Amino acid sequence: MTAMRKRALVVGLGIAGMSAAIGLRRAGWTPVIVERAPERRTGGYFIGLFPSGRQAAADLGIVGHLHTRNPDRATGANSWSVDRRGRRRPALGFLDQPGEPAAVLRGDIEAALWESTTGVEVRFGTTPVEITEGPDEVQVLLEKAGARYGESFDLVVGADGMRSSVRRIVFGPDQDYLTKWNAMICAFPLKEQVPSYEASDSIIVARAKRAVWVFGLADHAPTALLTYRTTDIQEQFSGSRVQRLRSVFSGMDDPVVRHVLDSLEEAPDHLFDSVHQVRMPRWSQGRVVLVGDAAWCMNLYSGMGATSSLRGGAALGAALREHPGDLAAALDAWETGLRPFITKHQRTARLKQQMFVPSGRRAEALRSVLLGLVRRIRGRRPATAAGGPRARVRSGAPG
Ligand SMILES: Cc1cc2nc3c(=O)[nH]c(=O)nc-3n(C[C@H](O)[C@H](O)[C@H](O)COP(=O)(O)OP(=O)(O)OC[C@H]3O[C@@H](n4cnc5c(N)ncnc54)[C@H](O)[C@@H]3O)c2cc1C
Repeated sequence: MTAMRKRALVVGLGIAGMSAAIGLRRAGWTPVIVERAPERRTGGYFIGLFPSGRQAAADLGIVGHLHTRNPDRATGANSWSVDRRGRRRPALGFLDQPGEPAAVLRGDIEAALWESTTGVEVRFGTTPVEITEGPDEVQVLLEKAGARYGESFDLVVGADGMRSSVRRIVFGPDQDYLTKWNAMICAFPLKEQVPSYEASDSIIVARAKRAVWVFGLADHAPTALLTYRTTDIQEQFSGSRVQRLRSVFSGMDDPVVRHVLDSLEEAPDHLFDSVHQVRMPRWSQGRVVLVGDAAWCMNLYSGMGATSSLRGGAALGAALREHPGDLAAALDAWETGLRPFITKHQRTARLKQQMFVPSGRRAEALRSVLLGLVRRIRGRRPATAAGGPRARVRSGAPG
């Protein structure tokens, strides 16, 4: 019986890869995960997990392992925006969005998935270098520490992120699929909250073309996000990153910005990258399928990347279960079911980008007026309807 189980190679041990592996195993497949890094990563940046992500987490059976970190709501605001004169005002923060997102670190989701991947073979320090499809199987040349070996699988799942190697090998070069957003991000955990703010406060300093966000958490130091708009993406990767960011944010002489930039110098790790969306007319070809950022990266402004990675992996398993003897039908059904959700959130990301980092002075002013208005309207509604104290997601209960 075991010998008859179909084998899938899952490339990438991120949210999409582990979700797909759990889904595949539930569909009766044997997944093998390869991960380029030498070990499983932990920590990471703030992520808001929306209801469909929490539902996918429940579908994957990981909710019991998922640690959430929503700060308790004080009667005033936990989120502040700082204006050009340095005044702080109560603001609508990321967690005030409809759907009551659960506050987690990326590592919290990955740790919960990891708990449910027990028994799945994981090969660290391993990456695919060639993928060749035959009539009944797909032959993969894998590389570990310079040594190469071939192995065949019934399916290859590329869950290796926005700059996916599987996509490059099978579907073509990055430039065919990465769309231009003319923006950069730098995300990292702060060692300490910005002085004079409460430990779990969130802070937003959003100016034309550049913004600093501090995401407060209940039981962890906040994480920071620096994001800015630029037309010369290539140039951003030259020289020292800290110097580059200091120069981009120079003139924003605010204690929040100063604290975040100083903390970056001491941060053990940070993510610095350009922002893109991945747009593909189809996510599978024969026995190779892409999932998560590799297939449809929506980018951080959408706030739906982790949610869609969980959902994509869970749905892939469900489709394979529903079409046990017909891989093509399973992949068709999976893509047909998922694509409207992905398209919708890819489209709204442009608008959300204005909320994260306004495109100019007028957008900055409009953003401020709009958010102020929404905040006042919500403030007048009863707490339960406004997502106030009684409606919040509590820490430790992913909802
Ligand atoms: C700053 C920031 C904030 C975000 N905020 C949110 C949010 O609030 N809400 C939300 O839902 N989403 C958010 N996202 C998006 C979310 O984090 C991603 O969409 C999600 O983590 C993507 O998961 P993934 O598994 O597809 O890819 P990745 O996380 O990129 O994982 C890919 C894995 O594949 C491995 N890999 C890469 N290449 C190879 C190779 N050749 N061989 C083997 N392994 C390889 C990598 O090492 C990695 O482990 C945010 C993203 C960022 C950057």
